[in-house]
Amino acid sequence: MENINDPVWVVAEQTGGDLRTISLQLVGKARQLADQLGTPLEVVLLGKNSNLNSDLLIASGADTVFTGDFAELAFYQPDLYTEMIVSLAKNRKPGIMLMGSTDIGRELAPLVAARLQTGLTAHCIDLVIAGNKILEQKIPAYGGLITITCPQKRPQMATVAKGVFQKPELDRNRTGTTISLDLPDDLPERIRTIEIIREEPEGIPLESASIVVAGGVGACDAEGWHKISALAKTLKAALGATRPAVDAGWTELESMIGQSGKMVSPDLYIGAGLSGEQQHMVGITNAKIMVAVNNDAGSPVFEQVDYGVVDDCREFIPVLIDKIKQYQKGA
Ligand SMILES: Cc1cc2nc3c(=O)[nH]c(=O)nc-3n(C[C@H](O)[C@H](O)[C@H](O)COP(=O)(O)OP(=O)(O)OC[C@H]3O[C@@H](n4cnc5c(N)ncnc54)[C@H](O)[C@@H]3O)c2cc1C
Repeated sequence: MENINDPVWVVAEQTGGDLRTISLQLVGKARQLADQLGTPLEVVLLGKNSNLNSDLLIASGADTVFTGDFAELAFYQPDLYTEMIVSLAKNRKPGIMLMGSTDIGRELAPLVAARLQTGLTAHCIDLVIAGNKILEQKIPAYGGLITITCPQKRPQMATVAKGVFQKPELDRNRTGTTISLDLPDDLPERIRTIEIIREEPEGIPLESASIVVAGGVGACDAEGWHKISALAKTLKAALGATRPAVDAGWTELESMIGQSGKMVSPDLYIGAGLSGEQQHMVGITNAKIMVAVNNDAGSPVFEQVDYGVVDDCREFIPVLIDKIKQYQKGA
């Protein structure tokens, strides 16, 4: 089924004119997939001034970059983006199409997949080319990692979680082609974005943090949560959470780590009052050193971490904060 010319595609995104990190991570991974398949890597980037990001995409591994540099695309427009991507895909016939599991990607990918009548795997944490050249799309589910393939339809489409792949090394000597797309004659008018108001995230972003302190429902209440949050501040760490901690209203959904949340790769992860359920732990598989604080010595979390502290986190954390502050003063 695979044609040697079927390109691998990445639909990239930019925010305020800057390429998003997830897009560069995807280009790095897609380059590897394209090399394995012996096919070109094509990137589609829609948005005002998208032409300006073309060189960076080529230096990151793209062979061809399709840009849509129009005032009409200053904001993400679901129908217009779908129309432009679908019509280009019908022409270029990509074998694989990847998007970031971002607010935009999570909406755009199903719109495009439906129009192209193909399958879509959401929130993948790994992508592998199998011996038969089919894309294996790995997602955490049913308490493990499952593999999904799309053997019949093309393109094989996936959204990919942030932070699971590395940004590629830039090669400024790479050459590639930039092609400016045209706007369709009839602009879809069903939905039009007229403004995007971004909420500024508080604290250190989880995805890029070198230390992550995460709390679970074992924090017990808002006061207990405040102690976990204070530890994060003391260590200049990003604050993460399990789903029940988010559901309890102690923190925002943006803090959730795991299968339906964020992937993190800190040098140090401290998990307090959480049980080590797979749906949470899948988000920290890239952490270098892991520490857990749990009042139950038999908790499964202790089998998964490098260091364990058996204690009530509400008692232990204030003592730890004092010790760290003393150390920081002395340092
Ligand atoms: C489809 C699906 C997707 C999901 N996605 C996610 C996800 O992305 N992220 C996520 O986190 N969860 C996710 N979940 C939920 C997940 O299955 C678990 O329910 C959740 O991770 C457990 O959170 P927890 O460890 O805080 O709570 P629990 O499992 O209840 O563990 C609480 C722990 O705290 C300990 N404890 C209690 N009191 C104290 C104390 N005072 N001091 C110290 N320790 C204490 C207990 O011994 C216990 O081990 C998902 C579930 C489903 C079905």
